[in-house]
Amino acid sequence: MKIENPNPIQWQFSQRAEQLQSSAIREILKITMRPEIISFAGGLPSPQTFPVERMREAYDAVLSRAGKVALQYGPSDGYAPLREWIADSLSTSDCPIVPEQVLMLSGSQQGLDLLGKVLIDEGSKILVETPSYLGALQAFSVYRPEFVSVATDDDGLVPEALDAVGQGARLLYSLPNFQNPTGRSMTLARRIALVEACARLRVPLIEDDPYGALSYNGEPLPKLLNMNPSGVVYMGSFSKVLTPGIRLGYAVAPVPLARKMEQAKQATDLHTAQLTQMVVHEVVKDGFLTEHIPTIRKLYAAQCQSMLDALQEFFPAGASWTRPQGGMFIWVTLPKHINSMELLEAAVAQNVAFVPGAPFYANTPEPNTLRLSFVTVPPEQIRIGVEKLGKLIAARM
Ligand code: PMP
Repeated sequence: MKIENPNPIQWQFSQRAEQLQSSAIREILKITMRPEIISFAGGLPSPQTFPVERMREAYDAVLSRAGKVALQYGPSDGYAPLREWIADSLSTSDCPIVPEQVLMLSGSQQGLDLLGKVLIDEGSKILVETPSYLGALQAFSVYRPEFVSVATDDDGLVPEALDAVGQGARLLYSLPNFQNPTGRSMTLARRIALVEACARLRVPLIEDDPYGALSYNGEPLPKLLNMNPSGVVYMGSFSKVLTPGIRLGYAVAPVPLARKMEQAKQATDLHTAQLTQMVVHEVVKDGFLTEHIPTIRKLYAAQCQSMLDALQEFFPAGASWTRPQGGMFIWVTLPKHINSMELLEAAVAQNVAFVPGAPFYANTPEPNTLRLSFVTVPPEQIRIGVEKLGKLIAARM
């Protein structure tokens, strides 16, 4: 029974909520969902790589064998056999990882929020790469830190830059492999120098690594985690090696921090879906990923090459771009006077989309940059889209 004429509520949002904004990328994605658009905007993995049949079999197997457990509430830190599998797969001969360090997450994005919750006070200094992953900037900014941007170049984050800014920082958020948004990776020498600098300055290092397995040629470089497990929090994800729709990721942290994040997670969602974790364990336990990941690498390497070829052919002199060795993104730098936000408007009018670079900067944006995602667009469409962009850029030179 409804009451008559209730007073309308004037929602008074918290100060924290007042400063929330929708991600610039998600807004752009809405436009680019239109089927006629050639979109280099989304950060979506290619659906061609989703192992639908294998997942169906695994759901069947888990529900038939242990349906009552899979459909029940589960522990906050996660499904123990999957945590063990993750710990084993990340252990190296001189750096064993134990399951107690592993916290299962509802997507690694959740881990970024939990890290913000347990490590950041208002005004805390936190260090981020220039540019950095927008989703992390968003997650951290809820907790109102002071962002300090650390210089990067073609070899990733510049460790020497930390000496000037690192003192007293609560954390450094880094993406050593095929970074989102630039596609760049850190060299081995840089990784060692970074881990040493953070240890010297006593700054906790966050290693966000959803793309590490997607190296086009050869094995990935060592993880920061295995260089200093007591000073590094590793963030892993099944989104890019299996499928993002299952929302499954994990953090590997020193045990006291893992427990603190677990407490924060309890308040957020009690635990990550037990069914999902059991299914993923069923899929990965007998080595499925060792056959599956090379097929993703091969597809993405070919897609990347198609885009690099098109850029070479159609982009005017004065534009430059990264040449990723893995992952899903290329980063383009245009001459300083070209604003990629304005370019996007012109591009969308011609049914091509990308993500402007400015939102990826925590401090001073470089509006002449943009991110191209190349894994979901067929090669012939890549050529058409890049040619159109090239003409629009040339007209602004
Ligand atoms: N970190 C980075 C660098 C990412 O690009 C993404 C996904 N776009 C995430 C974290 C979040 O991934 P997940 O699907 O595991 O939440």
